[in-house]
Amino acid sequence: MRNRIRTLEEAERIFELTDSEREAITRRSQRSGELPLGITPYYASILDRSQAEQGLRRTKIPTLEEFEIAVDERPDPLGEEDHSPIPGIVHTYPDKVLFLVTDFCATYCRYCTRSRMVGSGEFQSGPSKWQAGIDYIEAHPAIRDVLISGGDPLILSDPRLDWLLSRLHAIPHVEFIRFGTKAPAVLPQRITPELCDVLRKYPPIYMSIHFTHPDELTQEVQAACNRLADAGVVMGGQTVLLKGVNDSIETMKALNTGLLRVRVTPYYLHQCDPVQGSMHFRTPIQTGIDILAGLHGHTTGYAVPYFMIDAPGGGGKIPIGPNYVLGRDGDDVLLKNFNGETYRYRDPDFQS
Ligand SMILES: *Cc1c(COP(=O)(O)O)cnc(C)c1O
Repeated sequence: MRNRIRTLEEAERIFELTDSEREAITRRSQRSGELPLGITPYYASILDRSQAEQGLRRTKIPTLEEFEIAVDERPDPLGEEDHSPIPGIVHTYPDKVLFLVTDFCATYCRYCTRSRMVGSGEFQSGPSKWQAGIDYIEAHPAIRDVLISGGDPLILSDPRLDWLLSRLHAIPHVEFIRFGTKAPAVLPQRITPELCDVLRKYPPIYMSIHFTHPDELTQEVQAACNRLADAGVVMGGQTVLLKGVNDSIETMKALNTGLLRVRVTPYYLHQCDPVQGSMHFRTPIQTGIDILAGLHGHTTGYAVPYFMIDAPGGGGKIPIGPNYVLGRDGDDVLLKNFNGETYRYRDPDFQS
């Protein structure tokens, strides 16, 4: 963590930067805090030193494109602030909450949906800041599912995580605790046996791990995922669909089948949120639908995630995908299979 690449000088020592990258890093370091540059040495090792077009490199090193704001783009595209009863809690759905426990990440993604707040250092984390969130959860018995995110909660120390988990675990109506994190992919050495011992104490722990590309599945990352699985953590993968990075069936199939080999079930493929400066990453919605159609039936069903659009303005996640229902013919439903062939299913007791 101490050796993260955070300045133009540090980036220049490792990468051959383009003018656009150099200027974007400079502009970012002049604006206080907003989506800073931050790359772990481990993650830098999987980025291309000279090819600025490399997909994964574009997700971590800013370019001037990220300062172009399209008409539909917002600092808070999901309207999280409107669903936030107290700082750190986002309560959009009836029985689950998002609990933002830090604004800090080991490595910052340039398309971050929370770019408005990550890395600012304003959102100091720690037990005194979390108490209000814990009190809120305690006071709302409908909440049975707490999703700890941020920032990246796994950058917190083991004692702090232990404290937080013990408090949440002690609330009788909290059945389910999960983490949203990219730490296993950007800082696999964080997944220590000691961390696993903490997680093991509070079952069931689920983890949605942010993965972007099959090149992230190094030996180190695979070992980290296996340590988490051995500690009883149930893992799902979540991926943001990104233009020129992972927007092909082939790449997504390699990523998702690779995740299954290390006991991570692909859960969500996210349409990129319209956050400010994201246009160079956003794909047409059809791209995601085509990827799902290219996976379903063509590979293991567990390798097919839900494709989600998080409704701008705070409507929540909406699943979309290929349409396999062609219509009706009398009592029959006409269905398209994965090969595009039509089949019929006689709908029991259908009243036409
Ligand atoms: C994504 C999200 C959740 C979790 O949703 P699941 O579909 O249950 O994974 C909860 N709260 C908020 C605000 C979210 O954005």
